[in-house]
Order: sequence, then structure tokens, then C-alpha cells
Amino acid sequence: MIRGFVCLNPREQLKPFSYDPGAMTEREVEVRITHCGICHSDIHLIDDDWGMSAYPFIPGHEIVGIVTAKGSATRGLEVGQRVGIGWQRDSCGACRYCRNGNENLCAHQAATCVGHHGGYAASIRVDHRFAIPIPEELDSEATAPLLCGGITVYSPFLTHGITARHRVGVVGIGGLGHLALQFARAFGCHVTALSRSESKKAEATSFGADRFIMTNDVPAMKAAAQSLDMILSTVSGDVSFPSLLPLLRPDGKICILGASSNPLNIPASALISGRLTLCGSNIGSPGEIRDMLAFAARKGIRARTEAVPMPDVNAALDKVRANKARYRMVLKN
Ligand code: NAP
Ligand code: ZN
Repeated sequence: MIRGFVCLNPREQLKPFSYDPGAMTEREVEVRITHCGICHSDIHLIDDDWGMSAYPFIPGHEIVGIVTAKGSATRGLEVGQRVGIGWQRDSCGACRYCRNGNENLCAHQAATCVGHHGGYAASIRVDHRFAIPIPEELDSEATAPLLCGGITVYSPFLTHGITARHRVGVVGIGGLGHLALQFARAFGCHVTALSRSESKKAEATSFGADRFIMTNDVPAMKAAAQSLDMILSTVSGDVSFPSLLPLLRPDGKICILGASSNPLNIPASALISGRLTLCGSNIGSPGEIRDMLAFAARKGIRARTEAVPMPDVNAALDKVRANKARYRMVLKN
């Protein structure tokens, strides 16, 4: 039996729970979980914001742990090895996206804690391709949030060829946002933090922001018009496109990572006049996660975490809901 903390109904507190994982398949590894970050997607799932939650379920998809067992068809992993697991636990392995190393775009992908039990638990089983070895120099607690938050903000830099010649804005300085600032600095970009929280200014600067702008400061937003090439939106609520789009230079892009359930409200004229691009991005592939971890190790990119024992999960979730986490809550076994 695997012990964890389960969500039985939408918006309820999590409760202690055990489940029988059944027989292990030949492609699976079992991982004893040491750390699991709390991503805001877990809260969207607990609340059924996306209408896709399957109750009862154990949330959690920013997992670090130790391989304790492996099936006969697994490759490249050893019992005792430290690995990380993110949002995705499986994919078909046969479609053009899987074959081209874009498993995160597979139509048959399986999420770690949708229709399966996730990482707020003592252990987990996933397809071995989605358990990623962690470089030795990375600390487990600071690395758990990289498995979802980190890869999600890193991947757009590759997809869109963002380099040192670009000016990047990050809106929403939470779990994803504070990592996005660090990646943007590491790629050599000019970095702007956009936030509703004045209290985050000094830390945003320490994460790499050259500029900090309060999104409700109308004169400051006006003064920043046409100063960015790319905006990464990590806001967990609704994005204010009328106030953000004027910040983009012609041919600029805004990449939506935050996953509010409400429809986007976009003024067409702003997109048209600057020939702007609106796009989205979904986590990253296992190959990208490996590269991202190596890059983070080399560049000193680490999540700023607050660790709590796993039984304190409900208090930790409340802190994220209240936007009081600085900057990622991590559950520890
Ligand atoms: P988080 O730690 O709670 O941070 C979200 C930040 O957004 C907050 O710190 C706050 O920043 C800002 N914010 C929150 N509510 C807001 C509102 N109503 N209006 C404006 N700003 C608001 O969340 P997270 O874990 O970083 O996740 C952020 C979003 O990304 C979530 O929606 C999550 O589901 C999504 N996500 C997407 C992917 C993907 O593959 N695309 C992967 C992981 C997560 P300030 O205080 O600075 O304003
Ligand atoms: Zn996540």
C-alpha cells in the first residue's frame, strides 16, 4: 500500500489515504518520494477549475525521490538512483510527437496526478521515460520545483529562440515567475518583473530582474510601452491583455503559461497593429527536462523554497492560495 494525502471532492481539505498500486508493469519504476513541490496546477486540480479532475486523487507533480524498484523493460535507471518526476507520467511513445522528442505534445499523454495518484505521498510509480536523473550538484528541495515550474518557463526560451538580444518580461512572480526571472538572466536577456506585489521587488531583483514594475502603476506601465520582445505570463488568475500588450515592441510575443479557466479577453487591434503573436506552452519534454536540469546546475538556478513536513499539506496549500509562498512550498517526507 502507498500512503498519501488525498482530495475526495472539489475544494476540500486533503485527508490521509492509502491505495494499492497493483502489479508493477515492466516499463515502470517505483520511486520513494523525498520531496514534492506545490504547483498552482495542483490547486486548479483540487478545485476542479479545468473540469478534468478525477476524484479521489492524490495531487503532486514536482517530485524528487529515489528509485526503489524497476520493471524488466526499463532502461537507463538504477535502483538507488535519485530522479525527478514532473507533470507527465507517460505518453504513447509511437506518435510523431513522441518520436521527435516532443512527448509533452502527445495526444495520449498521461498526467502524474490526473486519473492517477501523484506526489503528496510516500512513493509513486511512473513510466521510466518520465523519471529523470538529477545532477549530483543539485539539492533535492531546491530542485523539486524545477520538475514542473522550471521546465515550463525554460521551454519557451528554446521554442522561441529567446537569446541575449531579447528583452523579456515575466508577469506574476510566484513559483514559475521567480524561476523565469532566473532563467531569463541566465540566457543573458534584459529582464523585467511585472507584479501586483510591491513586497517582491527586492527578491525579484535578486532573481535577475533589471526592472520591477507594478502592474497597477499606470504611469510606470505607460513609460514601459514598447520595451519588451517577449512576455511570459505565469499569472494563475486572469491576464490583463489590454494593459500588457502595449509593453510589446512590434513583432513581440506573449506566451501564456498560467492556466486560468476563464476565456482570454484580448483586444484584436493591439495584436494587429504591432503584428504581435499570442501563444501558449505546455511543460517540456523529458529531453528538455534533462537539459534544463544541467543548465540550472551550471548557472546556479535554484527554487527559493519553504519546506514543510508532508502532513502539513493543507496549511501549505492555504499559503499558496493566499499568494504568501516565497516562492515555492515543498512537502518533505
Ligand atoms: P503561484 O506560485 O501561485 O504564482 C502565481 C502568481 O501569479 C502569484 O504569485 C501572483 O504574482 C500572480 N497572481 C495570482 N493571482 C493573480 C490574479 N488573480 N491576477 C494577477 N496576478 C495573479 O503559481 P505557479 O505555481 O507559479 O503557477 C502559475 C500558473 O501556471 C498556474 O495557473 C498554473 O496552473 C500554471 N502552470 C502552467 C504550466 C504549463 O505547462 N503551461 C505548468 C505549471 C503551471 P504577483 O504577486 O507577482 O502578482
Ligand atoms: Zn505544475
